[in-house]
Amino acid sequence: MSTPLQRLVVLGATGSIGVNTLDVVARHPDRFEVLALSGLHKIDRLFEQCLRFRPRFAVVGSATMASRLEQMLAMAGADTSVMAGIESLERIASLPEADTVMAAIVGAAGLRPALAAAKAGKKVLLANKEALVMAGAVFMKVVRQNGAILLPIDSEHNAIFQSLPYDYSSGLENKGVRRILLTASGGPFRQLPLEALAAVTPEQACAHPNWVMGRKISVDSATMMNKGLEVIEAHWLFDAPRQSIEVVIHPQSVVHSMVEYADGSVIAQLGNPDMRTPIAHALAYPERIEAGVEPLDLCRIGTLNFERPDLVRFPCLGLAYAALERGGNAPAVLNAANEIAVEAFLKGDLGFTRIPAVIEQTLADVPWTEVATLQDVLAADAAGRTSAQHLVAADRRRQA
Ligand code: NAD
Ligand code: MG
Repeated sequence: MSTPLQRLVVLGATGSIGVNTLDVVARHPDRFEVLALSGLHKIDRLFEQCLRFRPRFAVVGSATMASRLEQMLAMAGADTSVMAGIESLERIASLPEADTVMAAIVGAAGLRPALAAAKAGKKVLLANKEALVMAGAVFMKVVRQNGAILLPIDSEHNAIFQSLPYDYSSGLENKGVRRILLTASGGPFRQLPLEALAAVTPEQACAHPNWVMGRKISVDSATMMNKGLEVIEAHWLFDAPRQSIEVVIHPQSVVHSMVEYADGSVIAQLGNPDMRTPIAHALAYPERIEAGVEPLDLCRIGTLNFERPDLVRFPCLGLAYAALERGGNAPAVLNAANEIAVEAFLKGDLGFTRIPAVIEQTLADVPWTEVATLQDVLAADAAGRTSAQHLVAADRRRQA
């Protein structure tokens, strides 16, 4: 029996997750048809992708880039229409012909397009964890109300999803789930002497021991804010109480996460650290397809280690847990301040250990509010950004 063709939109196609998605898609031309692609500015890469997959639409960051790319494609004999801007991203995310949307834009910029896909009732493959951190309650409500299917791409959440009972809609506790054990590699600075942390460079922070990823998430992994964002992501995805989500350091990144049950069983998903595994899992779900990933050789790896996280070395993890507990606008403010601080660190404007300091101060400066609508979320995001930008500017003045 042949599987029906899945028509796919890839938001953030030029990024690390986007490229890995298209790598899996290219292995299965009988299963997937690419309807639309987006990228903010790597025009040459998007051009190559459009020639290879012949989408009907492409979306870039500006009108000038759009007309340049459309011209390049027309000259190469491809008739992709190229558009620009956030409304165009929302449009391709909700194309009536689309079955599946890969949401792989990084940061808050990915929220509105991912929401548009959910509102249109698509199968949404969510890599953009920031969308759930900022707008968890709003996002999950839109998913439920519109019959969208939400599948996690983040390797830990994909592992948890694979380790949970088939139907947990009646609540995790009702299904005998006791804890979610979210694994974390600990990043490149797990063992660096604490006094050396203040002087680390963006290049050192982006050199992750196990994963090759975009620069923002690489810095998040080095501060462990990535794990903090993932705790909040797990809370919303699985309706899991904060107390049931525990972070475990596992430097080899082979056990991608685990679920502990009332009878003492612990179910884990293992694999080589390669994002094509969770991507292929979600693309083909509930079937399984070849992803191009090396088989896991446990005898070669030999040892798997586990330890508790060090909250003194990684204050971002504590900040994220606290923001989840405070609720309201706190997670959106945390996320916004983190994006500003990481961007400043990558530009050389902020020291590594100042990242958690800026986030903590932003959370103290922005008044707490309830969040009920998308407008509330966007207001919290804007307030967090403005406040964090002031703190970063003050740091720069002190350095000058
Ligand atoms: P990346 O920086 O490599 O790619 C980001 C993509 O988003 C690019 O296509 C870029 O053009 C686009 N983009 C960036 N800013 C944009 C904007 N303002 N408007 C429109 N498009 C924009 O990032 P990545 O590593 O692929 O990560 C993407 C998302 O997936 C992030 O939310 C990240 O946390 C999550 N994620 C990534 C990995 C990984 O292994 N890379 C693993 C788990 C989760
Ligand atoms: Mg992850």
